[in-house]
Amino acid sequence: MTHAVEIRDLHKYFGDNEVLKGIDFTVDPGQVVCVIGPSGSGKSTLLRCVNLLETPTKGQVFVNGMELTDPDADIDAARRHVGMVFQQFNLFPHLTVLQNVMIAQQRVLGRRKNEAEIIARENLNKVGVAEKSDAYPGQLSGGQQQRVAIARALAMNPDLMLFDEPTSALDPELVGDVLTVMRKLAEEGMTMLVVTHEMGFAREVADRVVFMDGGVIVEEGEPAKVIGNPSHERTRAFLHRVL
Ligand code: ADP
Ligand code: MG
Repeated sequence: MTHAVEIRDLHKYFGDNEVLKGIDFTVDPGQVVCVIGPSGSGKSTLLRCVNLLETPTKGQVFVNGMELTDPDADIDAARRHVGMVFQQFNLFPHLTVLQNVMIAQQRVLGRRKNEAEIIARENLNKVGVAEKSDAYPGQLSGGQQQRVAIARALAMNPDLMLFDEPTSALDPELVGDVLTVMRKLAEEGMTMLVVTHEMGFAREVADRVVFMDGGVIVEEGEPAKVIGNPSHERTRAFLHRVL
């Protein structure tokens, strides 16, 4: 079986600073893998290397069997199959919610306006913000904006969704709505790689949890193991701080 994501001996330097020190892991189709770890451990950099927002210094990244790190790879084509949701929602403030979910479909996928609108409305409905279609991002709560950002990513029909701390910028009472949408996506079989501090979500939804510290994977396994009964002192110390 082709892995949805395969990372082999990934290293990333920023100048002299080695931020990823040899990362290996895979995500299979339909799996949810949560990446946890302290601030500065390289989680965002890892995620950004999966869709080449950062260029790996060494090592290989495969998405659906296609090597993105191959100099001849069609990066744009490969990226089209990967959706990404950030901590900051990055919606266009001058476009309505509906337009925000349509624009990349039209510009990147070349969909016609009618088709893009139908798909945008389907996805806004799916994340529970259809009634805000004509509003501007500034008129929405953070939780609603983040759900629009998820709808925007889904409208591109990704095979894989990357989430980088999607709830970290939200007021606590808005976190649940976003996690509910992510849980639903997971149940529908979406392949997801999720950096999160939401241990409840990781425990319940993840097939596997990866604990990173200092640019390496310290341990990984089933959530009940890594979160419930970690083997390493570094994992225990981290969990002690966040739980
Ligand atoms: P995390 O997401 O786990 O908090 P990051 O991947 O954001 O960690 O950062 C890991 C390390 O890489 C940090 O020391 C950070 O300062 C550094 N870093 C991240 N992005 C850059 C960049 N664009 N340029 C220089 N250093 C960076
Ligand atoms: Mg980060």
